[in-house]
Amino acid sequence: MKPTKKKSEFNKKFYIKWMVIAMTAIWAAIAAVWLSMHNWDTEESMQALAQAFTEQPAETEQQAPTEQEEPAVKEEQAATEEKTGQPEAQPEKQPKEETPAPAPKDATVYPDIDQLPAEPTIINGILLANKQHPLPASYAPGENAKARAAFDSMAQAAAKDGLQLVAFSTYRGFDRQKQLYEGYVAKDGQAAADRYSARPGFSEHQTGLAFDIGEAGQEQHWASSSFGETAGGKWVKENAHNYGFILRYPQGKEQITGYMHESWHFRYVGKEAATAIYNQNITLEEYLGI
Ligand SMILES: [Zn+2]
Repeated sequence: MKPTKKKSEFNKKFYIKWMVIAMTAIWAAIAAVWLSMHNWDTEESMQALAQAFTEQPAETEQQAPTEQEEPAVKEEQAATEEKTGQPEAQPEKQPKEETPAPAPKDATVYPDIDQLPAEPTIINGILLANKQHPLPASYAPGENAKARAAFDSMAQAAAKDGLQLVAFSTYRGFDRQKQLYEGYVAKDGQAAADRYSARPGFSEHQTGLAFDIGEAGQEQHWASSSFGETAGGKWVKENAHNYGFILRYPQGKEQITGYMHESWHFRYVGKEAATAIYNQNITLEEYLGI
């Protein structure tokens, strides 16, 4: 039994020996393959090996770029949103450029109406008459007594400064305005007439509160822009608010008031409103918030 034992012992040793050889060969082969995978560089191979055993950081490294991708995607979305936003904004801009023409923003344009209103427009106790707010044809109050009294006070104060103020045109009824306007249209054409004269029903002179002011003996400056350059014109411009009058159509406000600058046309609104309008350097329309 012993030899068999020996034989089996020998077989066992032989088997172990070849197992070790085979295992070494396999490991050598694996090492060779690993080295070949990393350009036969031992350092690189060792680093790769260490990484292989610590797979976690390798995974987070892989995750990191995907996390970075998210903001990149957001940036892309933002970029596409911006891109899609732009074409949307552009069509918006285009109608904006087109709409101001038909919109009632331009106060110089008469509204497309067939009839004058039945009642005048009164805002915060102030009567308003312009191209957007006409008066009834029947509205005929005559010259306003308060406005006349205020003008007389102003003329007295101006007289102390050697200026003889006169109101050469105040109340004008509907029919008188019709006659005047039609005369201007015949002379200069409707487009030109609309810039310096009101159509009947749209004139502030029909309110009885508008005073065209000039100086006695200075008739050449009456209803002329040159009045604003005279001593009388300058005096009225700077003092009228103390008596309740405002320069109704100031320079550069044609789009708001509807009329070109008229250095001679003053409107009675009362001291409080006149002073506020003068101090703020605004128009009646702006003061009334329309
Ligand atoms: Zn006038």
